[in-house]
Amino acid sequence: MIDGEWFWKVATIPKIQCFIWQCLHRSIPVREVLHFRGMEVPQICPICNEKPESILHCLRDCREAQALWKAFPPPLAASTFLGTSLVDWLKLNYRTNKLLPSPSFSWGIIFPFGIWTLWLRRNNFLFRNAGLPWNLKAEVISKASEFTYLGTNMKFARPQIKIQVRWFCPPMNWHKLNSDGSSLGNLGLAGGGGLIINDKEE
Ligand SMILES: [Zn+2]
Repeated sequence: MIDGEWFWKVATIPKIQCFIWQCLHRSIPVREVLHFRGMEVPQICPICNEKPESILHCLRDCREAQALWKAFPPPLAASTFLGTSLVDWLKLNYRTNKLLPSPSFSWGIIFPFGIWTLWLRRNNFLFRNAGLPWNLKAEVISKASEFTYLGTNMKFARPQIKIQVRWFCPPMNWHKLNSDGSSLGNLGLAGGGGLIINDKEE
């Protein structure tokens, strides 16, 4: 049972929000999910070849995922981070706003890019023969930096400032020219006009 639509509030890019939605609905095509849906595929994890590849195994428990999480590490007790169900794990991590010591990003920003990067690497490994082991920490930080500093998601990254625009009369003995124009595409028909007004609005 999934409560509400909290995943749309996760401070990340829309495609990762969709990815989390798919995780919650068990729609990520890891081998266990494919097997459960009747496809004849081995359930074993293609990366470690040790355990069935569930979503949680792929994103948290597999050795390559463990290497990523240990490299940060998460600002949560290990027993909590490693001992929760998939839904609780996703929810708990995105809501953890503690800052990491270095780099000083909120864990709630880092985490979604972490699971997304693991998923992309898993697919590159499986379908494009990307090698092991992976050093994903720098990649995750790079994506989180881009999101935070370049305002990939304006709603989360920058406060909105409203500016009221209105026309003011020019100062005494001055004239003001207001002009505007438009064109029907580049090299298309164009037109323009202007209005000169003095300080008496004439
Ligand atoms: Zn594995």
